[in-house]
Amino acid sequence: MPQTKTLEYRSKYLIILTVVGIGVSLLAFFFGISISISNSEKDFQRSADQAFSRIENRFELLSQIDEDLAQFFHASDEVTSSGFGQFTRQILERNDFLQQLMLAEVVPKDELKSFEFSKQEQGYTGYKVKSFGTAVNTSEYLYPVEYYEPVSILSSLWFGKDLRTLSETQEAFVQIHRDSFFALSEPFNVNGKLSFLILHALSPVVEERPDLGLSEADTYGVLAYVVNIDELLELNSSSLKNVNYMVEMDGREVFEFESSAVNAFFALGRFSVEKTFVFSNASMHFQVSHYISLGDIDFLLPLLIFLSGLLLTGFIYASTRSEFIRSELLQKQKEEVSRQVKNQTRQLRHQAASLALTRDQALKANQTKSTFLANMSHELRTPLNSIIGFSEILGKGMSGPVVEEQKKQLEIILVNARGLLALINNVLDLSKVESGKVEVDIALVDVAALLKELEETFMPLAKEKNLTFKSEIKDGSESIYTDHEKLRQILVNLIANAIKFTNSGGITIEFFSHLEYFCFRIVDTGIGISREKLRNIFDDFYQVEGSASRTYEGTGLGLAISQRFAELLGGFINVESQEGDGSVFSVYISDLNQMEAHKKSLNKS
Ligand code: ADP
Repeated sequence: MPQTKTLEYRSKYLIILTVVGIGVSLLAFFFGISISISNSEKDFQRSADQAFSRIENRFELLSQIDEDLAQFFHASDEVTSSGFGQFTRQILERNDFLQQLMLAEVVPKDELKSFEFSKQEQGYTGYKVKSFGTAVNTSEYLYPVEYYEPVSILSSLWFGKDLRTLSETQEAFVQIHRDSFFALSEPFNVNGKLSFLILHALSPVVEERPDLGLSEADTYGVLAYVVNIDELLELNSSSLKNVNYMVEMDGREVFEFESSAVNAFFALGRFSVEKTFVFSNASMHFQVSHYISLGDIDFLLPLLIFLSGLLLTGFIYASTRSEFIRSELLQKQKEEVSRQVKNQTRQLRHQAASLALTRDQALKANQTKSTFLANMSHELRTPLNSIIGFSEILGKGMSGPVVEEQKKQLEIILVNARGLLALINNVLDLSKVESGKVEVDIALVDVAALLKELEETFMPLAKEKNLTFKSEIKDGSESIYTDHEKLRQILVNLIANAIKFTNSGGITIEFFSHLEYFCFRIVDTGIGISREKLRNIFDDFYQVEGSASRTYEGTGLGLAISQRFAELLGGFINVESQEGDGSVFSVYISDLNQMEAHKKSLNKS
């Protein structure tokens, strides 16, 4: 992937990573919030259920009280205020949610006087027949006898209030006379406590009044419970905080009670639980609801999860980014290195190509030179041979008598011609070797015979210069597979040099062999060779003395040819010498038969 694309890809990756990280953290946060909300809803439901079951218990209690009261009235012909008080006090003491009980008998208006009279005759005192004002049909009904508990000195006035005439309760009284057995008043405030009335039409306690349109089953009176809402719903102690109550009676909303401080407008939502209580012939419906506020939510854990998510995202972002930067740096370095390597490789290739070209040119030039020399030498040798041949014929007087002077001059011609021929032969040999035209002719060479032949050849020359000359076979095999002619030529060159550059002492030829090679050592006691010159003596046409001051004859080719021949014979020539101290030339060669066999076996495998 190209660098820019990688960068684009990576920055996209980082953006996606960040978005996903924040997204997941937010999801976790909202998930935590929703769990917290559902937990508080469960709490709310549990509390509401508990509240409803408490309300249910209390309603059961109320019906029990109804029954007890009915029995109480049936049991005695006369109910006095104190009797009623005694009976109800226990009830009120046991049930905090009841603040007061009231019982009122119903009497038609036109019978009021006789009713009062009969009651007074019966000894009732302290009871006044009360008109309850305008709300109830006053022409027909009155509440002549009223029992209150706790009793107020002001008779029907309870803490300064007439329960029947309060604006919040009137409607309930009207209702209980018209068509209901149950009626609830609207809530009203009693000493700072919100209360309401539960009105219950009593089954007849006195007698049947068909004249009033009341059969025995119809109401003769009204039992009123003053119920404290806080106590009924246990608002102070219950876990139901900030709730709204809606109470319906027979499908009609009786009151709505808001204890919630939370405004519906700012609420996050609403929990709501409903319950209907069915009585014998009426029903009460409660709905309790709660507006969800921020206070209902446990923010700490979701917030912690959210923050950890953000932290984790940040951490992953930072480490991924630094990893990217690192790998980009590495990539750049790699590219730089590979660019440099490429450059250098290109340069090297270029150099190698130009070197190869130069080498090829040099090889070609060398070959051309060698071919030229070989041809030239051949062309020179032919006339030179005829010069030598005719000079010899002339010298020997075969083509007529020659005088002494002429003989001497013919001699000089012969010496020079032979020297020239030797030079040409050397040049020819060298160029043959260089142009690869020399072939090696392998045969078994008898070392002793070779050495003897060389001794016979050189002994006269050595004697001429008063030098000793000897050869010896030190150890090892006495015959070698090699090219006889080339070996002989090497040894002839080296021995001729040794005699040429030795003025006193002598020359020794030693032969010895090792496992891998054979060695001929030509040791002389001659002039020796200086250290710096030793390096060059195997170069073509090299002579230690410059050509201008030459004491010794020669061409400077003998050692060069010998070295090349030694290489052809699988070896080399080594020289050790010190100026004025003689020289040792060692010719190392291999057994060529063994070498051939070795080469063949290598080729086969
Ligand atoms: P040349 O035909 O001149 O002898 P060579 O190649 O045989 O040419 O020898 C090169 C030179 O090495 C000689 O000119 C000589 O200076 C030196 N040289 C060769 N052999 C000996 C030796 N045995 N002792 C001293 N110098 C030698």
